Amino acid sequence: MSQAQKFTQDADNIAFDLKHRNTIKFNISRYDTAVSKGMARYNNVEAAKIQAANIKREVLQNWDKYLIQFEEKISSRGVKVLWAKDAHEATNFIETILKEKDAKLLVKSKSMTTEEIELNETAERMGCESVETDLGEFIVQVAGEKPYHIVTPAMHKSKGDIAKLFNEKFNTPIDSTPEEMTEYVRQVLRKKYTQAQVGVTGANFLIADIGAISVTENEGNGLMSTAFPKLHIVIAGIEKIIPKMSQLGLFYPLLAAHGTGQQITAYNTVFTGPRQVNEVDGPDEMIVILLDNGRTTLFEDNEAYEALACIRCGACLNACPVYKTIGGYTYDTTYSGPIGSVLTPFLRGFKDFSHLSFASSLCGKCVEVCPVKIPLTDILLANRRKTVEQNLRPKAEKMLMQGFKLMSSKRIGFDIVPSLLKNIGTYPFNYFGWGPKRSMPKFAKKSFSEQYKKINSK
Ligand code: SF4
Repeated sequence: MSQAQKFTQDADNIAFDLKHRNTIKFNISRYDTAVSKGMARYNNVEAAKIQAANIKREVLQNWDKYLIQFEEKISSRGVKVLWAKDAHEATNFIETILKEKDAKLLVKSKSMTTEEIELNETAERMGCESVETDLGEFIVQVAGEKPYHIVTPAMHKSKGDIAKLFNEKFNTPIDSTPEEMTEYVRQVLRKKYTQAQVGVTGANFLIADIGAISVTENEGNGLMSTAFPKLHIVIAGIEKIIPKMSQLGLFYPLLAAHGTGQQITAYNTVFTGPRQVNEVDGPDEMIVILLDNGRTTLFEDNEAYEALACIRCGACLNACPVYKTIGGYTYDTTYSGPIGSVLTPFLRGFKDFSHLSFASSLCGKCVEVCPVKIPLTDILLANRRKTVEQNLRPKAEKMLMQGFKLMSSKRIGFDIVPSLLKNIGTYPFNYFGWGPKRSMPKFAKKSFSEQYKKINSK
């Protein structure tokens, strides 16, 4: 079964799963309430969005300059910087490092980039236990699942689902409260932090002028993951660069307000390197892996490159009627929702993932909520055109479109084809593409021009 067929089948199943729908509805409604409060704290959120969008666009104009500046600065404090052109190369780096260190346990804070390169699977293959330390990530890892959402990985689970899961896996009481379950996880993780040889984080921002990594998180687990282990590995997409440390003052609240509705995320850490001479805390070693993995391909596309401005706040997912209906797993990608539909064809190929460009109603809500003003719907439309140009759409659709073009490009085409034939022609759409749950509109018995002529001849 192709990715596109699997997508359609999974979407069809989950869209009518009422339990799933209710859980998502409940969790997103809580998010919506928090975000409206978050937005209300701004005097002029639009001005902040414009400023952030401009910074990220300027970064893309001088991308190489900022990345080199970042590398030079951070290397000067003893950080090793490795450039990975794809997931395979990044995996090779990780394998070599884990082998060299003879690592048996690594603790990891939340990072979608590590999902992109399947770091957990690599570590396990190397005989190194990889433990997710973000609560949501911990829950999906225990369930044997992938993150459902880029900001809230366990959004699809209710507290009852989690209590049941913990009861099965850890024998905790089936009626445990969220507080009790959190306390349980805290106790488990405390031991892991102190035993791990390696701590892994992603990066919310790579700061060029001072050469540093910024990580924002709400549980302190990112800090704990880097406080005890002797080695800190950072895996970051190369688009995460911002020019100046001072710009965090703009990006921190913008990311928090759009991601969770907070004024600012609880823990914001700027990592500048391993423990320096005369410092008492911090890891002995720090390695930064800068990941391309399709990002420069995206950069070369003059219609889609602005997607590189994304700060992964997740707002477009929560706003998207398609995401809310089919959920995160249907996409079968690291990044889901509107930004995932835009990015994935570039990261993993149009051949297998161009169908995602069509998984949008183009209502534009994602564009409205995006804090860095990415024209997501324009890019989706451009991706659709590229899919047609690359001959990746089904042959039947192509023939149908050519027939429609022939019939509709001249008025006479509409007039000479009887409405019955037109209705028969569109009938298969009820079963392919649109599905039987949505019926195609019917053509009128007489075309507009025929009716017009008739009225005017009276
Ligand atoms: S595209 Fe915009 S709204 Fe969506 S995750 Fe990225 S920054 Fe947030």
